[in-house]
Amino acid sequence: MDPNEFRRLGHELVDWIATYREHAAEYPVMSPVRPGEVGAQLPAGPPPEGGDLEGIVADLDRIVMPGITHWNHPCFFHYFPSNTDLASVLADIVASGLGAQGMSWQTSPAATEVEDVVMEWLRGMVGLPDTFTGVIEDTASTSTLTALLCARERVSHFCQNRGGLQAEDSPLVVYASDQAHSSVPKGALLAGFGAEHLRLVETDDQHALRLDLLERAVEDDLAAGRRPCAVVAAVGTTATTALDPVAGVADLCERHGIWLHVDAALAGTAMICPEYRWMWRGVERADSVVFNPHKWMGTGFDLSAYYVRDPEHLVRVMSTDPSYLRTAQDGLVRNLRDWGIPLGRRFRALKLWFVLRSEGVEGLQARIRRDVGNAAWLADQVAAAPDWHLMAPAPLQTVCLRHVPAELAGDEEALAAHNAAIVEQVTASGRYYFGTSVLKGRLIVRVSVGAQPTEREHVAGLWAALQAAAGQV
Ligand SMILES: *Cc1c(COP(=O)(O)O)cnc(C)c1O
Repeated sequence: MDPNEFRRLGHELVDWIATYREHAAEYPVMSPVRPGEVGAQLPAGPPPEGGDLEGIVADLDRIVMPGITHWNHPCFFHYFPSNTDLASVLADIVASGLGAQGMSWQTSPAATEVEDVVMEWLRGMVGLPDTFTGVIEDTASTSTLTALLCARERVSHFCQNRGGLQAEDSPLVVYASDQAHSSVPKGALLAGFGAEHLRLVETDDQHALRLDLLERAVEDDLAAGRRPCAVVAAVGTTATTALDPVAGVADLCERHGIWLHVDAALAGTAMICPEYRWMWRGVERADSVVFNPHKWMGTGFDLSAYYVRDPEHLVRVMSTDPSYLRTAQDGLVRNLRDWGIPLGRRFRALKLWFVLRSEGVEGLQARIRRDVGNAAWLADQVAAAPDWHLMAPAPLQTVCLRHVPAELAGDEEALAAHNAAIVEQVTASGRYYFGTSVLKGRLIVRVSVGAQPTEREHVAGLWAALQAAAGQV
């Protein structure tokens, strides 16, 4: 494509995106297509000749849009927020336009240096002390895998330079709660610990990790000659935003030389507001911390913020340093290829920079407080309504609830069917999108507040729809 055609079509597509955002609320929030419907509209093979972009805007409307679930719709209440502020959209256009590689400082110095600076800003914004150094990874899954690899290498004194875990005399063990995100067991398995050396410790009635059981598991492993290696503590679990007791876990980890990784993928963004920082008290003693600006902060997917206390250790584990990658500046600058798993990296820091400039710290704080306030309002309504139960504390933006009519009380199977039917009825309207989850054997209705355009009226509308459906199903 030549620059003139890019200019023409680019302007048209920027207009198209702006119009989409203005009218996002008019779409059914969950895509109604059936499996195969989108793919069937594409030709069987690629165009043999170029020049085929004529009509692409119409094709986006006709083929792609029906297959989009609208995460930036005001009535999106499923999974977690995945806000993409329009400033972030522009930054991604610029990053692609530059097409720069940020694997080494030399391969585009601005990519490294903008990242250095904005990650420092972000560190201060969430109240992490300056003993942490940050790097952008693609996702929390990658950040957690990286943390587990670093833990493995620290506790095994660099077994990767010998026979790896396969040659260790005694097995290394990883701990998390039974509410940990699936990326934690996945990371532990990929890092070679083995399912037999992964302990998912039971949680308390608030769904937070039980410190007494964690301590017992560590002691049992020590007594059996195994080596406790890493604990992943969650600040804001996926199902209910439960808060593991980070400070207590940090005490235990310090006593035994265990790596402490804090997974605050969603909740980390809330720490921009000082009044929520008690939720991760003790985090300054972690070895590594991850949170995702690509969830609640407005920075479009993908951008995960990974902070470590010992960057030299990270670089020792991750650097390969073949001679063709060396440059004269290596001793003076960061080469971000050595700070994570992939070699190549795109200029993600631009979207963080754009979003921070566009929203400002105070703008982000106001939006987070709005969302927490809306979730608290919903939790209050549920707690006060006859036959409705709050199923977990709601410290942030996720509300877990269910309808328990007197005639079904105590019958878990009937309650699961009844609540699933409520969700089915409300989501079928296309107006709202949210889901169910199973929490310790009970089906719950899960409402995750925090899309950028979501206001109180949308949360109130959902609550009214839930109550109406409960009377009909
Ligand atoms: C969303 C989430 C993750 C996974 O995030 P990705 O960036 O998609 O890998 C991990 N942990 C928690 C607690 C999460 O909420």
